[in-house]
Amino acid sequence: MDTGGIRVGIGYDSHPLVSGRRLVLGGVDVPYGKGLLGWSDADVATHAIIDALCGAADLGDIGTLFPSQEPEYKDISSLVLLSKTSELLKAKGFRVANIDVTIIAQSPELSPFIPEMRERISQALGVDSTQVTFKATTTEGLGFIGREEGMAAQSVALVQKTES
Ligand SMILES: [Zn+2]
Repeated sequence: MDTGGIRVGIGYDSHPLVSGRRLVLGGVDVPYGKGLLGWSDADVATHAIIDALCGAADLGDIGTLFPSQEPEYKDISSLVLLSKTSELLKAKGFRVANIDVTIIAQSPELSPFIPEMRERISQALGVDSTQVTFKATTTEGLGFIGREEGMAAQSVALVQKTES
C-alpha cells in the first residue's frame, strides 16, 4: 500500500531506578542520587526513540536489533545504538522527519537538561536539533514512577522515504 512515503512509529520503555547507577536520559548524564538499571546505560528516552524509529521504518524492535545479555552491548551508550539504528534506517531509504519524546519521571527537574538532550539525539541521528523535541512530566506521585521506583518514556517518530 502506498503511504506517500511517510510513516510514523511509536515507542515506549521503562526501567527500574536503583542506587549506584548513572542516570542517563536522552544521552545526557543527569546528576541524581539514583540511576536506571539495565544491560546498556538504560537510557529510557533513547530506547523509546529507537523503538519509534524501528516501528516507522519496519526494522523490528530494540530487543531484536540489540539483544540484552550480548557482551558487546553491556553498559554501552544508547547513543551508539541510536546511531546504528539510524544507519539501518538510511539503508532502507528513509530519513527522519521529526521525533517527539515525553519522559515520565517524578524527579529530578529535567527541563534544564532538555536543550542538551536535543543536541545529543540530533547529533547521533545526523539531523537538525529542531527535528527532535523533548518534554518531561511527572505522574503527580502516582504508581511506580510516582514512588521513584522507575522512569518511563514515550516517543513518536515520523520518517520519510528518500527514494522510491
Ligand atoms: Zn530500555
